[in-house]
Amino acid sequence: MLLTACSGGGETPASPAAAPTSNATSSAAPSPSPSSSPPPVSSSPPSTSAAPPVGSGKVVVLDPGHNGGNASNPAEINRKVPAGRGQTKPCNTTGTSTNAGYPEHAFTFAVAQEVGNALAAKGIKVVYTRQNDSGVGPCVDERAQIGNNANADAVVSIHADGSTSPTAHGFHVAYSAPPLNAAQGEPSLKLARTMRDGIRDDGFATSTYIGSAGLSPRNDLAGLNLSTRPSVLVECGNMRNADEAGQMSSAAGRAHYAQAIAKALEAYLASA
Ligand SMILES: [Zn+2]
Repeated sequence: MLLTACSGGGETPASPAAAPTSNATSSAAPSPSPSSSPPPVSSSPPSTSAAPPVGSGKVVVLDPGHNGGNASNPAEINRKVPAGRGQTKPCNTTGTSTNAGYPEHAFTFAVAQEVGNALAAKGIKVVYTRQNDSGVGPCVDERAQIGNNANADAVVSIHADGSTSPTAHGFHVAYSAPPLNAAQGEPSLKLARTMRDGIRDDGFATSTYIGSAGLSPRNDLAGLNLSTRPSVLVECGNMRNADEAGQMSSAAGRAHYAQAIAKALEAYLASA
């Protein structure tokens, strides 16, 4: 099962064709410097009353899986980095795609931007682990560090799966287990449950092939292992399933995913 996860071994590895200039490509890789999201959309102007915005003081780190330049930079993304629990993993992976070729990295970036815009409109500070969909990386350990450095109230990695079974479908939310620190314990489990509930309540089916009731405890995901903040990874669905591929490939479908994730994050922050 885990072999089919997009962040596991089921995706197309980058070919080791590039020249071994890892030092050069490493320094040329986009720096993981976080930046704030765009300001709230004009349809939600800040209130002039004394009441602070609902999200005042809260920080969310959004981590769109993979990156558009990964596939053409195998030397950089295949280098091993710390993955937690004494393990190492490739810096990053290419991610999967729909059968029609719509890539996971484009989906995750688009959804993260929409989630971030919705949260920023509520006064929540949003930090992204990557600023565009054409760069390389950052590595999984660097992504975790961005969440840690931001002192995030919640960290959400956004992915889509690539199960080779076309009938496999549904979303799941992964969390670190067994926990390696306090934040990976109850806070992350609560975030995972709240995220699962919110996405399910918004009309999405839980996974038919990974985890249980939309939740998947994992000990092998570097971003979760290395996090010191409440963190989850959302696999929105199976890009190799025709119905879910259709949703992910459409702007309306991506907006639906984003709305569900943003609402769940707001619910978590309100209860945290
Ligand atoms: Zn992925």
